[in-house]
Amino acid sequence: MTSMRPTIFALSSGQPPAAIAVVRICGPQTRVALETLIGRAPEPRRAALARVRDPASGEVIDEALALWFPGPRSETGEDMAELQLHGGRAIVAAVLEALGKTEGCRPAEPGEFTRRAFENGRLDLTAVEGLADLIAADTAAQRRQAFRQLKGLIGDRAEAWRRQIIEALALVEARIDFSDEADVPENLIGPALHAAQQLRDEIAAKLAGSGHAERLREGLVVAIAGPPNAGKSTLLNRLARREAAIVSPYPGTTRDVIEVHLDVAGYPLTLLDTAGIRDSNDPIEQEGVRRARARAEAADLVLWINDASVLGIAAEKTDEIISKSNSWMVNNKTDLAGDKLGKTAESQFSQSAEKTFAISAATGAGVDGLVEALGAFARDFFAMTEAPVATRARHRAALERTVAALDRALGEGESGREEVIAEELRLAATELGRLTGRVDVEDVLDVIFRDFCIGK
Ligand code: GDP
Repeated sequence: MTSMRPTIFALSSGQPPAAIAVVRICGPQTRVALETLIGRAPEPRRAALARVRDPASGEVIDEALALWFPGPRSETGEDMAELQLHGGRAIVAAVLEALGKTEGCRPAEPGEFTRRAFENGRLDLTAVEGLADLIAADTAAQRRQAFRQLKGLIGDRAEAWRRQIIEALALVEARIDFSDEADVPENLIGPALHAAQQLRDEIAAKLAGSGHAERLREGLVVAIAGPPNAGKSTLLNRLARREAAIVSPYPGTTRDVIEVHLDVAGYPLTLLDTAGIRDSNDPIEQEGVRRARARAEAADLVLWINDASVLGIAAEKTDEIISKSNSWMVNNKTDLAGDKLGKTAESQFSQSAEKTFAISAATGAGVDGLVEALGAFARDFFAMTEAPVATRARHRAALERTVAALDRALGEGESGREEVIAEELRLAATELGRLTGRVDVEDVLDVIFRDFCIGK
């Protein structure tokens, strides 16, 4: 009993009070825990109504739905159970306390259920990451990509590639091991390198076709820039108030830039208000300005807000921010200026801006058109011709190292050193194995599971 793997439990649903609270249990003592709490283990995989009792006093704590999933046909591959309780604080506390007193049971650490699913081979590492992304997804596009990754979009392909490399490697090893024997064909290296070449080209092409899939996790960055009092903050507030706005859950990375997270046409978009960008003699403020400017310059798109009721101001500020390729001209305060002045400002900018809009941030006129254009921009930005094979820098790096190893193997050529070819193919296979977590990934596991919440 002492060496038994701990049985873990946690509240897997959101914080009480809530309509329902889901407590999950996983590990060898799950059945015992169920018997302790509800007097039995229900029929596997069927919801059963059960009275949950305090094991010490016998008092009924709640009436719940109980589910029993004996391993290995469970999410983690181990014995599991789920109690769907009424979501009151005292109920949850009493159940967790009773579980804590059950022999061999302890509270789960963040991501520990998923970690067990990974360790038991139920999920590969890319699927684990997909699950983390799915839970974190704010928008429909993020959700879709994460779900496909959870279901093997990346892992299955990487595993197929790894198997093909191992087949090529087997040819080279056969050539090395049995080179003295008369009945081993001479030309095993040729076919091995041919296969390696095809794989190399395929992986490189898929990598190139993965487009901005990595960026979908973070979102597009759109900076709102322009002279003071042009209406940048007013526009930001208007956009943020829209129904689709994600209430900004993160504080700005610098205190000089206000950011708002939006869901535009299903895509995540971070709006930066660079109102803080202005010339200053104060060194601290200068530093803030420098950082705000750097963020705006790194943005995927700059909305240059121009006060259309005042002529000429924006022209002086045509600096490096707007001179970057993706910048749109937004003539604001059309309610004051009317069309005529807006058009004048527009002509001054027709050279540097890709698109021009006329809006009133105050009345909202024209803002829908701007939002629509932002949605189209996001769609184009994230448009992928291929299903992505890299949605994180980790994936891209592993695949790039795979391609590099294959390149080195191919560089040897048919008359090259067989040992070197074998070693490089082995390395390529190992990189793909690291991608899916098949081999040697202890170092990345903690980083990946750190992102999970308790109960997942
Ligand atoms: P920022 O310095 O660029 O962030 O500009 P603000 O958003 O603070 O706006 C400066 C002033 O212009 C405020 O008094 C706003 O109420 C006003 N303002 C902003 N947009 C409009 C607009 O479309 N029409 C009118 N009439 N006033 C506006």
